[in-house]
Amino acid sequence: MEFDAIVIGAGFAGLYQLHALRDRLGLRVRVLERGGDLGGTWYWNRYPGARCDSESHAYRFMFSRELFEEWESSERYPAPAEIRAYLDFVARKFDLRRDIQFGTHVAAARYDEGANRWRVETEAGERFSAVWLITAVGCLSAANVPDTPGLADFKGRWYHTGKWPHHGVDFHGRRVGQIGTGSTGIQAAPVIAETALHLTVFQRTANYSVPACNRPLTPELRQWVKSSFEEIRATARSTINGHAFRISERNALEASPEERQAVYERAWAAGGLQFRATFRDLLTSRAANDTAAEFVKARIRAIVKDPVTADSLADIDHPYAAKRPPIDTNYFETFNRPNVSLVNLRKDPIERITPAGIRTQGSAGVREHPLDIIVFATGFDALTGPLLAIDILGRGGRSLREDWKAGPQTYLGLQMAGYPNLFTITGPGSPSVLTNMPVAIEQHVEWITDCIALLRKHGVHTIEPAEEAVTAWGEHVQECARATLLWDAKHSWYFGANVVGKPRVFMPYAGGLARYARHCANIAARGYEGFIMDRRRAAEAATPVAQAGV
Ligand SMILES: Cc1cc2nc3c(=O)[nH]c(=O)nc-3n(C[C@H](O)[C@H](O)[C@H](O)COP(=O)(O)OP(=O)(O)OC[C@H]3O[C@@H](n4cnc5c(N)ncnc54)[C@H](O)[C@@H]3O)c2cc1C
Repeated sequence: MEFDAIVIGAGFAGLYQLHALRDRLGLRVRVLERGGDLGGTWYWNRYPGARCDSESHAYRFMFSRELFEEWESSERYPAPAEIRAYLDFVARKFDLRRDIQFGTHVAAARYDEGANRWRVETEAGERFSAVWLITAVGCLSAANVPDTPGLADFKGRWYHTGKWPHHGVDFHGRRVGQIGTGSTGIQAAPVIAETALHLTVFQRTANYSVPACNRPLTPELRQWVKSSFEEIRATARSTINGHAFRISERNALEASPEERQAVYERAWAAGGLQFRATFRDLLTSRAANDTAAEFVKARIRAIVKDPVTADSLADIDHPYAAKRPPIDTNYFETFNRPNVSLVNLRKDPIERITPAGIRTQGSAGVREHPLDIIVFATGFDALTGPLLAIDILGRGGRSLREDWKAGPQTYLGLQMAGYPNLFTITGPGSPSVLTNMPVAIEQHVEWITDCIALLRKHGVHTIEPAEEAVTAWGEHVQECARATLLWDAKHSWYFGANVVGKPRVFMPYAGGLARYARHCANIAARGYEGFIMDRRRAAEAATPVAQAGV
């Protein structure tokens, strides 16, 4: 089947890209989605306690005032069902479903140079072609199950949180082992513990977490959201991370210890990711960061009654927010329950999974942890995983899997050299996972749409970045990360460290969303600097220059 554009994925990104290309540019578009319905992340992640950490008034589209004002959220942080309902509302409003094909897993995409078309093939053998190929495959959509010896022999049931069964999992009377204490594990443990006979949390990396303080939105707050579109959008688009709150202008070390304590206490009581915004230098100065880190560690010790467990939970080896900073509902309190225990894998690593549970071997000798259910809250093969899961072949048959062997190489996280007319939404090298993502997604979709509109207007055949632009951008991405404390958490998934064999390269762009968006806009305004446009059919195109503009 032939289309002007194919979009892979029907989450936030795919839905908006479909709307933009079809309804603004009038293209024939088909969205291919492997899931049974739209929603992306929120279609797959239905684990107990799953919830968005972005606040509901900012975790939504802002490209249409009407759309923004028509939707009412019920809580401070939306749960997956509410986000799915929201995306369904978006799809109905713009009549999107008619161009989405569900249950369609894209296996391969090959650039056919002669025809200047992308040939896309699904796992079921269906074939499509299009001039423009846009991957909206998500940054966190390739579930990562660690290769633990013995898993195949386990007699109980096991689940990954990112592929949670839609019918739910009954933990009543079950001995549950949860592996992983990142954002997901921190959300899941308190809810699993409510019904499980026993929950054993296996922790490799202790983590900071701040109370989410979720609550229903009052009528006044709902009214405020409805009447604050301009303000919310302007804030979200001008901040470093796309959230609708501003980061303090003050440095932590400029405040007295008493003032700092008071600031942290207020932020702790208010809850949410705003804790990061208490001082502007938390992610650039280790000494400043230490003040926040020590505050959270002291809270953990104050909450958790058993001193050994408290020590393990507070034994955090990275700066605050250098890994994705979780927010929680009663996470640390959960360890005061009689049916919950913690295994510190730094001291007692997993030796293997046995038919009856998990065996650890370490400071406590060999220990068997009998289990009925194992929950892998072990995250994702982030950013590159979903792209490399597709066999993407570019110009001359070059392979993305080969090209990215040493790590992803993109220009602006939007395109790769040698892969003409292929765009990646929130690809590696863009702010992506360091942001409130709908805002980053909108910026990408709009940039891509404007670019395609311009190329079509001028009859430009192809666009792709120059190799030098890609190299320079890659260096710039590393530099931006190096300027922050994100660089100090080498075991974070931002570096790909959670996936065995993955190259250790810092993947997202840490220079800030607003700065990045300005940079992308300037590049476009300068005639798509750093991109090569095939001018054989583009005599009147804006003057493209094949130079890196970073
Ligand atoms: C547990 C969890 C919590 C999160 N919390 C937040 C948060 O608080 N704030 C925030 O901003 N972001 C959060 N995120 C990130 C979240 O992914 C984004 O906010 C947003 O949903 C991304 O939308 P997307 O459309 O880019 O990708 P996704 O929602 O991941 O959608 C991508 C879609 O592409 C499909 N797909 C992938 N590969 C193929 C293929 N080969 N063939 C066909 N279809 C394919 C997938 O099935 C999926 O449906 C969270 C992510 C997770 C996993």
